[in-house]
Amino acid sequence: MFISVLDLFKIGIGPSSSHTMGPMVAASRFLAEIIQHFAPLTTQYHIRAYLRGSLAFTGHGHATDMATVLGLYGYLPDKLAGIDCQALYTQLLDRDVLPIYPDGGEVRFNPKEDVVFDYGEPLPHHANGMILELLDQDAQVVFTDEYYSIGGGFVKSKAEMEASDAAEADGGNWPYPFATANEMMDMATEANLSIAELKRINERVLMSDAELDEKLDAIWHTMDRCLMQGLEAEGTLPGKLGVKRRAKKIAKTLRRHNTPTDHNDWLCAFAMAVNEQNAAGDCVVTAPTNGAAGVIPAVMKYYQIHYQAEAKDMRNFLLAAAAIGSLIKANSSISGAEMGCQGEVGSASAMAAGGLCQVLGGTPAQIENAAEIALEHHLGMTCDPIAGLVQVPCIERNSFGAIKAVVAASLALHGDGQHIVPLDSCIETMRQTGLDMSHKYKETSLGGLAVNLPEC
Ligand code: SF4
Repeated sequence: MFISVLDLFKIGIGPSSSHTMGPMVAASRFLAEIIQHFAPLTTQYHIRAYLRGSLAFTGHGHATDMATVLGLYGYLPDKLAGIDCQALYTQLLDRDVLPIYPDGGEVRFNPKEDVVFDYGEPLPHHANGMILELLDQDAQVVFTDEYYSIGGGFVKSKAEMEASDAAEADGGNWPYPFATANEMMDMATEANLSIAELKRINERVLMSDAELDEKLDAIWHTMDRCLMQGLEAEGTLPGKLGVKRRAKKIAKTLRRHNTPTDHNDWLCAFAMAVNEQNAAGDCVVTAPTNGAAGVIPAVMKYYQIHYQAEAKDMRNFLLAAAAIGSLIKANSSISGAEMGCQGEVGSASAMAAGGLCQVLGGTPAQIENAAEIALEHHLGMTCDPIAGLVQVPCIERNSFGAIKAVVAASLALHGDGQHIVPLDSCIETMRQTGLDMSHKYKETSLGGLAVNLPEC
């Protein structure tokens, strides 16, 4: 399955791609559907949303209710950069009627009552499901749809989930339709192309090189801006844990003292800066998710500083990382609700390792090796965010993901690409591990650290 670099790296808002960005997109899709079928609406109609599965269990901490409301009000994640979403949400909370622009009429919707956290059985197709309903004056459902937030901000309707993989497949219209890491390596080697070049040639089906470069530059600049803002921000993150921001303090200390662990410490500061911004609901780039948004920017910043990288190098980093991410997403999952944290931070680390290996001159086999090493050493990692907030263990965890990515790229570059566990096998192992993992450890906050924190 072809997945564009622009789908894996999406500019949006925190704290979660699956629990914030996805539900916002789903709600706005529902809005578009009811406008198409029922506009102009009147206050005889009423909208209600039910959050199910992981969206219910960790939705409060992930601002899923806020995201759903903003989506119904027509907002989308990529248009909210720089906007105080919480303030906007607060303004909408006391309203009973939702105006539908332009000329779509209005419909009854009370944000406090009509977004329901439903702790019953998850919906059948994915742990992150939601149902949206349009009801008439007799409280009869006149239109409904299910939506699934499948990780990284990707959303599918019930019909799309039920459609066969064949319908989703791209029919081989891509110049290099690799579906596995082995195919990717073979195609690159045969065509004498790097992994980044291979990915770029496929992306050309969708857009020109100039357009792609412009978008890749925007992605990196957004990542970089988020990281730099995170290095300057102080204070306490939202939520009941009262987590203090640390990235600025660490960076300040590092600027004053040279220590032998400087490189790792800087990687930590960079990753934490991004994830602190994410936890605060600021603008971030899914990489491939919000919870794991710090790993790739941290490694890219590390590379930019230490290797005086140019724009083309940063683009190649993103393209190679996306090639790895698309394999993981297509053959397993990047969703914490399906795979645990191995699917989020593990995937991000594998993508960062592949990207770094690419720009440091790695062969396709070395890039595959780097990604495999990084992913292998995240296998089995659970998702158990305390209080349902994307803060503990998430923020520090991104630091470790970044460090592992750099080590993985280095180890791969010391070798010739030959190694024991193919990336394809590692991705399949992650998929099987995710299936075996109890739902308590898949973004429900029902197990692990989330239930073992002593009450203060
Ligand atoms: S523990 Fe990992 S997967 Fe779970 S919310 Fe945090 S970063 Fe995402």
